[in-house]
Amino acid sequence: MAQTVAVSKIDFDRKWQLWIDGNFRDGSSERELINPADGTVLAKVQEADAKLAEEAIHSARRAFDEGPWTKTSAVDRAKILFKTADLIEERAEQLAEVETLNGGKPIRESVYDMADAAACFRYYAGLATKPQGETVEVPAPSVTSIVREPIGVCGQIIPWNYPLLMAAWKLAPALCAGNTCVLKPSEFTPLTAIMLAEILQEAGLPNGVVNIVPGGGPDVGHVIAESHLVDKLAFTGSVKTGKAVAQAALSNLKKVTLELGGKSPMVVFGDFDIDIAVDYALFAIYCNAGQVCSAGSRMIIEDSVYHEFLHRLCERAKKIKIGPGIDPATEMGPLVNDKQLARVMDYIEIGQREGARLETGGQSLQGKSFGNGYYVSPTVFSETRPDMRIVQEEIFGPVVVLQRFSTEEEALKLANDTTFGLAGAVFTNDITRAHRFIKGLKAGITWINGYHNTYNECPWGGYKQSGWGRELGTYGLENYTEVKQINVNMEPFPIKWFDN
Ligand code: NAD
Repeated sequence: MAQTVAVSKIDFDRKWQLWIDGNFRDGSSERELINPADGTVLAKVQEADAKLAEEAIHSARRAFDEGPWTKTSAVDRAKILFKTADLIEERAEQLAEVETLNGGKPIRESVYDMADAAACFRYYAGLATKPQGETVEVPAPSVTSIVREPIGVCGQIIPWNYPLLMAAWKLAPALCAGNTCVLKPSEFTPLTAIMLAEILQEAGLPNGVVNIVPGGGPDVGHVIAESHLVDKLAFTGSVKTGKAVAQAALSNLKKVTLELGGKSPMVVFGDFDIDIAVDYALFAIYCNAGQVCSAGSRMIIEDSVYHEFLHRLCERAKKIKIGPGIDPATEMGPLVNDKQLARVMDYIEIGQREGARLETGGQSLQGKSFGNGYYVSPTVFSETRPDMRIVQEEIFGPVVVLQRFSTEEEALKLANDTTFGLAGAVFTNDITRAHRFIKGLKAGITWINGYHNTYNECPWGGYKQSGWGRELGTYGLENYTEVKQINVNMEPFPIKWFDN
């Protein structure tokens, strides 16, 4: 589709380079990035190979072992993080436009993500100077304190669905704690991470403390996951890749946190206002075209309102305005790339073969108004069974499956019946039932009568195969620290354990 909306002056023809040891550098190859809204080439990015990834790791290692960073006070680390937040805010408009043109999401969502990324840096800037550690009363004459220290070099690998925000979730807590980092953005959406490198440099981050290496997963990502010079690996992505990087990280038993996929349930009881429930359902599944790890991709609806819910959901899904993310009128943009389009269309076919009923959508949108973009219409499946692949597997697109229940026990059983455990929501006016339900739900992020709200202050992560550990909040910070006990003997005297 021809670009109809003017964007601010962004020079996409500029050099998009690696950032290693404080220098912008060419890579060993170049990748064309495609604008998913129209299939045209948006920019060309320099990519690292294994050798450059090693260089980046050595740079982070030096910055941790020899550089000034580990001697930089918490107050000064906080200043850099506050400045980073300010600069993200100053450049939010440009960053949001780049995010949208590179990844496809509607501009209103990118604007929100930029604000969230700035807030994440600001939250951890504040946390850097807050009290931490403990003292413990142990038998005299010892005095014991427990302190938290940075782990060292953190390898950080992120996906394409929230490029700058995921970079913020990784870098802000790691830097707050005093670590150094090697960040690998997704090969499909590296642009805002490179713009963040410029911001971090301007904010005064010493050379080598953060290194940003665009490149492929199996080469650059694997080198980071496997390296003996990396002390911690923080990964966000699919379960399949999560298992591969966890395996690679065993090389030196580095600390690992994993934020993986989901197949999250949204459960609606018949006592809840059906229009409000449908409103949240649309937000739960079609936000970012369903390419959200915590997407509400299974609607579990009580029998008494099932048909009405289905009808209203389909009617409203059909009216969602689909188009290029950069158009402010767009409510749902394209998928990120042709690979993701093919994957989602495959699942739509699988669902039909499995015997589910395609109620609406299911189309790859082509033709004059969509150019060569990667659009899929909002899709709803009913008449599903729990064992169907479209019910069990993460589709990561604008596809929702409906399930129905008659009792609370049945609803809970359905809700927990996948290998994932990232998020989940329940909608009911019965507050006792709501709490009982959430207590039984095996998920790390839950909502009562709401969906998708996320806070930098609160832990993010999943049960079961949705991951290991938590990001954000004080929990996220703890995952970037080692714990040390310090025992001081206040009255040293000979203990004569060996009497000679
Ligand atoms: P992905 O697993 O394909 O890729 C994620 C990252 O891993 C990319 O940077 C990729 O280059 C890299 N990678 C790929 N193979 C690798 C390997 N062998 N070694 C090291 N690195 C490798 O995931 P994606 O398609 O980019 O993102 C979508 C997935 O991310 C979905 O499953 C989604 O649920 C998940 N996700 C989870 C969260 C969360 O917080 N739980 C947030 C966003 C996305």
